[in-house]
Amino acid sequence: MNSTLESLIALQHLDKTIFDIRQRVENIPQALQQLDELLTESEGKVSKTRASIEDQERTRRSKESEIEANSEQMKKYQGQLLQVKTNKEYSALLAEINGLKSKNTLIEDDIIELMESIERAKHALTQVQGETAQVKRRVEEEKQRYLVEQQEWQQQLAQEQQTRDAKAQEFEPAILREYSRLLQMRNGVAVAAVTENGTCTGCYVALTPQMFAEVKTKDTLHRCPVCLRFLYAESA
Ligand SMILES: [Zn+2]
Repeated sequence: MNSTLESLIALQHLDKTIFDIRQRVENIPQALQQLDELLTESEGKVSKTRASIEDQERTRRSKESEIEANSEQMKKYQGQLLQVKTNKEYSALLAEINGLKSKNTLIEDDIIELMESIERAKHALTQVQGETAQVKRRVEEEKQRYLVEQQEWQQQLAQEQQTRDAKAQEFEPAILREYSRLLQMRNGVAVAAVTENGTCTGCYVALTPQMFAEVKTKDTLHRCPVCLRFLYAESA
């Protein structure tokens, strides 16, 4: 095989590895942010449920004071019943008392409903608190894992980079420049394999039979007429 081609394939292999590791490292902050969002969302459910319970407790207390106030008023009216002089006044007071009594019955129904709803909300709170604790544990574990991986990847990256730089010394400057330019332009792939059917795997264009035949000999450097990548035949 043409030795420059052989070196280009090796360099591309190293750069692909470096490219992949870099991408993984670059994706870490986003992954960490997603984990934070997961936890925030879960904690949001807890505070929302807690707020709903407090809100309902407040309503319940206000309804209870309403009942108390009504009962006080009833007592007053009942006291007045003993002092009234006419039947008309007596009936009026009695009507007031009965009105307050039925009001209180309605409020008591509301309170029972509220208490049931509060019970349900408390149950839900226990559940979301449990879920949040789980999410928190998972998030912490995954964050830790990412940090360990990040270190490993960065070490690996430094090693690969060293090997890569040594390999790059082997090239004529003009070829290396062209290779580097393609690497930048073509999303990290400057050397592309050609399939058994004579297709460039970089841009999926079909080579002419003559060019494909030449690429297969591996004697000279060839470049894809469309994406300009250096080409090599995939099959042995
Ligand atoms: Zn191509």
